[in-house]
Amino acid sequence: MIQMSAYGSSVWFKRMVQAYGSSVRLDHTSLFPYFCPMNYLFGTKHRFNSYSGYFKKTFGERVQKITVDAGFTCPNRDGTLARDGCTYCNNDAFNPSYCNPQKSVAQQVAEGIEFHKVRYRRASRYLVYFQPYSNTYAPLEKLKNLYEQALRQEGVVGLVIGTRPDCVDEEKLDWLQQLSEKYYIIVEYGVESIYNTTLERINRQHTFEQSAEAIENTARRGLHVGAHFIFGLPGESHEMMMDSVKQVSQLPLTTIKFHQLQIVTGTAMAIDYQKHQEDYPLFSFEEYIDFIIQYTERLNPDFIIERFAGEVPPRYLAGPGWGLIRNDQINIAIEKEMEKRDTWQGKYYKP
Ligand code: SF4
Repeated sequence: MIQMSAYGSSVWFKRMVQAYGSSVRLDHTSLFPYFCPMNYLFGTKHRFNSYSGYFKKTFGERVQKITVDAGFTCPNRDGTLARDGCTYCNNDAFNPSYCNPQKSVAQQVAEGIEFHKVRYRRASRYLVYFQPYSNTYAPLEKLKNLYEQALRQEGVVGLVIGTRPDCVDEEKLDWLQQLSEKYYIIVEYGVESIYNTTLERINRQHTFEQSAEAIENTARRGLHVGAHFIFGLPGESHEMMMDSVKQVSQLPLTTIKFHQLQIVTGTAMAIDYQKHQEDYPLFSFEEYIDFIIQYTERLNPDFIIERFAGEVPPRYLAGPGWGLIRNDQINIAIEKEMEKRDTWQGKYYKP
């Protein structure tokens, strides 16, 4: 008998049924060995559902993200919910140099495309990434104007919109749904943790339930949804973090991003860290590789993993770091270790 997996309706699954008949159990766990080592279940050479593979499948080629700063703020900074922001937040540490809210979105996109053309000649299509602060935190008319400026640029095929779960509403999501008929639209929510005690401690000013609701409301409209999580937040044990994978895997997500906690200069967390270092379960590089592999083994294999870890420039670090290591080097280390352990995303996933 075929046991239906999370892949029951996929083209891949149907091909496997044609190839192997209906007498075998067809899911990631059982079929992986048949495709090892070159033809992994995710349709790429990777042992996880990779972002690059996803874009190749979706667009048939590499797509470059162009980050813009549209001058948003967030309710956790402007006094609506709080003034101090999340305790770890310092947006300056993450903004590319060509992002400047003094320039129009149209100009930033044009300059971003030029910048990337010189560095990555292969890309001819672009997604505009509204990244800093909460990029749906404005009246709909203003959002329309900003997003449309981006979409009018040649080569732009869609938007990546980073925001908080409490900064979307039915009206905005309905309009994004209309936009998604012509463009690729993904809304990325900062969820950070499933534990409300943690969210309170880092002053997120929203709960996990609000995140889950926003994600559901977005996915229900057929929009792509991304989520961001941080590992190493104060008060969370490694067991709590590992355990969270069950709830995270139930969310209707398209993509997921992980970051190891890094203590950034100029933040409230940097001060708290000096006083309560024992509360911060920060990962060494080796510990994190081990942790994230075990987490990935338990993660829903349908999720596209956009990032396993983050890179804050060392000059912004107010706590221990991993030195000058690039994101692609982290990915290589993770994949090498996965290969050594003969494991893959979703190996131990239980729907
Ligand atoms: S992390 Fe995001 S939500 Fe938190 S203060 Fe910074 S911009 Fe606002």
